Amino acid sequence: MRFLTDLHIHSRYSRATSKDMSPEGVGKWAQLKGIRVIGTGDFTHPQWFQELGEKLEPTGNGLFTLNKEFPATDVPGSCKAEVSFLLSAEISCIYSKNGRTRKVHALVLAPDFNAAGRINAALGSIGKLSSDGRPILGLDAKELLRIVLDVSPDALFIPAHAWTPHFSVFGSASGFDSLEECFEELTPHILAIETGLSSDPPMNWRLSALDRITLISNSDAHSPSKIGREATIFDAEIAYGPIKDAIKTRKGFVGTVEFFPEEGKYHFDGHKACGVSLSPAETRQHGETCPLCLKKVTVGVMHRVDKLADRVEGYRPDSAPIFHSLIPLQELIAETLKVGASSKKVAKAYHALLEQLGNEHSILMNSPLDVIERAGSPLLREAVARMRAGNVRIVPGYDGEYGKVRTFVDRERNEAKWQMQLL
Ligand SMILES: [Zn+2]
Ligand SMILES: [Zn+2]
Repeated sequence: MRFLTDLHIHSRYSRATSKDMSPEGVGKWAQLKGIRVIGTGDFTHPQWFQELGEKLEPTGNGLFTLNKEFPATDVPGSCKAEVSFLLSAEISCIYSKNGRTRKVHALVLAPDFNAAGRINAALGSIGKLSSDGRPILGLDAKELLRIVLDVSPDALFIPAHAWTPHFSVFGSASGFDSLEECFEELTPHILAIETGLSSDPPMNWRLSALDRITLISNSDAHSPSKIGREATIFDAEIAYGPIKDAIKTRKGFVGTVEFFPEEGKYHFDGHKACGVSLSPAETRQHGETCPLCLKKVTVGVMHRVDKLADRVEGYRPDSAPIFHSLIPLQELIAETLKVGASSKKVAKAYHALLEQLGNEHSILMNSPLDVIERAGSPLLREAVARMRAGNVRIVPGYDGEYGKVRTFVDRERNEAKWQMQLL
């Protein structure tokens, strides 16, 4: 059975997260988005771990569902679906190696509460797990991998958002040039990396070193409406073991749902404080300094991929998995209504669409355009059509600033043909 997973999110115990990131809130939004298996996030946090223990019950296959006493509410009938939780956590390793400070985030997936508890016990003696849902440990990422494997051989360790400049295995600011440099003899245990919002599979295909690595995607959501903005598609039995096997063997791994990578916060280089955005070529011209303040710019993901790649842009492996480049539905609606994506108007239109057509991913990927037009508007139909065709304009993100994706140029939205049909 084909299904969508989002295995990296954060609970309300992580810094800068929504208070709605509760098990029930996550369960609700997974249904609205069309996510069948969702990560719990933050299982290392003592209070969250306890809450998960109270509110989830095992389905006997390494996954969990919400206990009937704690149901997800306010889900329209059109979106109602079973949701399974998978125990996940993210750990921030900050340490020094080969003469440099390294900051590497890792996603850890656990097959059951017992294994997660053992991981927590081992890590609790190294740092304070209660300080943040995503704890910071003064621990070498390789040692974290070793601990996880020792404590639970069935657990999965996945370098998170592998290309972001400041906190990732390949990051320009504090990462490594190869998985081997980071994980040494344990590198064969790295089965997958998370490509992150600012890179997509074609960018990663440019590194032959990643040919054996499965490229997965997750949302890293800090608020419910961001759940599933990136996701991984499997065609397997819905259970922990088969999901892990699919990541390992790529049998049953179908592909991913992606942002247009330019929309990610670190696609280009630049300096946010000065409002300076630079392409990799421009950065090289300026000697990696900001032309306004002369400080070092943040070197983004495109530049970093270019530096480490051994293949030209456009290379495509023979058995390349599929990927869909999508724009969040709220953003598409916002563009057609000419209001902000987080406005009440958009929320109302979003929920009305879901009530009529079903979950967001099915709308973005599968709903016939005629149906979208009837439920929404001719303008929304055209926006979805253009998104599906990749016919979009993007101002790339840089130095922590999200990129801006548009399916229309301003003058088009005012054209008579759209206005008339809007009635
Ligand atoms: Zn992270
Ligand atoms: Zn500057």
